[in-house]
Amino acid sequence: MTATERERYSRQILFPAVGAKGQERIGQAAVCIVGCGALGSFQAEALARAGIGRLRLIDRDYVDYTNLQRQWLYDESDAQTESPKAIAAARRLQQVNSHVQIEALVKDMTPSNAEELATNFDIILDGTDNFETRYLINDLSVKSKMPWVYGAAVGSYGVVMPIVPEKGPCLACVYPEPPGGAQPTCDVDGVLSSVTASVAALQVAMALRLIVGWGDFAAFIHTMDVWEGTAKRVAAGPRDADCRVCGAREFQYLDGRKRTPVSLCGRNAVQLHENARPLDLQVLAAHLRPLGTVRVNEFALRLSVPKYDVTFFPDGRAIVKGTTDVGVARSVYARLVGG
Ligand SMILES: [Zn+2]
Repeated sequence: MTATERERYSRQILFPAVGAKGQERIGQAAVCIVGCGALGSFQAEALARAGIGRLRLIDRDYVDYTNLQRQWLYDESDAQTESPKAIAAARRLQQVNSHVQIEALVKDMTPSNAEELATNFDIILDGTDNFETRYLINDLSVKSKMPWVYGAAVGSYGVVMPIVPEKGPCLACVYPEPPGGAQPTCDVDGVLSSVTASVAALQVAMALRLIVGWGDFAAFIHTMDVWEGTAKRVAAGPRDADCRVCGAREFQYLDGRKRTPVSLCGRNAVQLHENARPLDLQVLAAHLRPLGTVRVNEFALRLSVPKYDVTFFPDGRAIVKGTTDVGVARSVYARLVGG
């Protein structure tokens, strides 16, 4: 470490659990952030300020005005020009700390590219908004023995869980299957920037603790409600010996077997052949009405919003009109009913 670095990071070095040795490790560490929305953009800025060695940012999305309420790195000019989030984030991060090596990838993480995009990192941070990608990250983490920190937020509620393969339970030990039916999402149910910032800040603290060395690691689940001002921490318990991921080492998400099949349908539409996610169309209609025009009968629900027309069926299947991009269709679906 140079004298300049020692000065720049002095307040962090003074924190006994980090110290000069910990700061050296932080400076040599590589972190992969999957998703650069509210969680990922905060994580990236906090890690850049902390002097992380290398950051990889993966996000396929573009900045829009609805992001600015909670996505720290972006400003009005990014929304005006619809900059890719990964690129806009990297640009800002270089101003924050020009010594950090930043790799911005405008990509969707999928089973076919996950290993190529996110292997050989010290830690993966969850900045995603859907369970399909989280289980994919979990598969990758267990397979390559790479820790990751799960984080999620909606409304005023948030949850964080650090996952260290072989030292504690994986995501599938605790939640064997993703939640079924329509789940609350930020696009439908709203979210406060104070909860996304709190979740991301805790994820970053866990990442730094893992980087500097966390000898007596014991997994836990931390939940919080920033509106109520409450927080709770429960032990995540031991690994489940019968876990399909860390027990049987079956990587169904990484193998692509759990991925909802899609097909192009019509000239400008994508069909998601989800059939294991029964949806109550009347309940969903009440949720989606604030977003656009909703028409519903017992067979289908149709939502019209400015860019897309989405038709949902009771078995969970959906047709997204207005795009031929499979990634966009998946993302629209995940934002409306959870992913
Ligand atoms: Zn497991």
